[in-house]
Amino acid sequence: MITRLRQEAGGSGMTSPRARERLVESLRANGIRDERVLEAMRSVPRHLFIDEALASRAYEDTALPIGRGQTISQPWVVARMTEALLEAGACGKVLEIGTGSGYQAAVLSGLVADVYSVERIDELQRAARRRFRALGLRNIHCRHEDGRAGWAEHAPYDGILVTAAASALAPELLNQLSPGGVLVAPVGEPGAQQLVRWSAGGGNWRPEVLGTVSFVPLLGGTA
Ligand code: SAH
Repeated sequence: MITRLRQEAGGSGMTSPRARERLVESLRANGIRDERVLEAMRSVPRHLFIDEALASRAYEDTALPIGRGQTISQPWVVARMTEALLEAGACGKVLEIGTGSGYQAAVLSGLVADVYSVERIDELQRAARRRFRALGLRNIHCRHEDGRAGWAEHAPYDGILVTAAASALAPELLNQLSPGGVLVAPVGEPGAQQLVRWSAGGGNWRPEVLGTVSFVPLLGGTA
């Protein structure tokens, strides 16, 4: 009986709606203000984007391993990057470099028209595709490719999120933004990365530092 009630409540213990609500409250306490973003963080089941063995930690505000040396980003970082796009009005086409588990793309899926997401590790992008299919997220388009040069075929984008860190970004990537578009990316060496938002305006790129973050590196080639 207890088990059935728990299942009906949408999960047991650490993956329950209450665990998600606690996460949302902690995001709010840590400065996430946009209610649309908080609602997306509440509704996307993060425990389905990680290995079952780690599911009990899904609603902790921490990055977790997803295999192949990669991680699902910390929820606060996902929320802040999403907020940084929406604040700038990017709600049409958004490009993500580094699909990973697919969690960031799933959070974006309910907030923007279309998500284009590129991942260099085939095994990870296949697993992410399966999750999108299972959750019925039809506006996420995936590609197995080195995404450092973006995804020109669907450009221009209103927003670009890079979810792996580099010391510099390719000009091709910035050129795939629409006028008024924004690019949000962690920049710098491991241990000293800044989350930066670039806005296009009058032929100049204006950088704005949003905070300190810690991402896995943006690597070349496919695997
Ligand atoms: N957004 C992800 C975070 C994944 S971690 C999530 O929500 O889970 C960063 C991801 O970027 C890793 O999966 C890594 O394989 C990928 N990555 C690194 N360099 C890349 C590149 N050049 N092109 C595409 N993906 C890349």
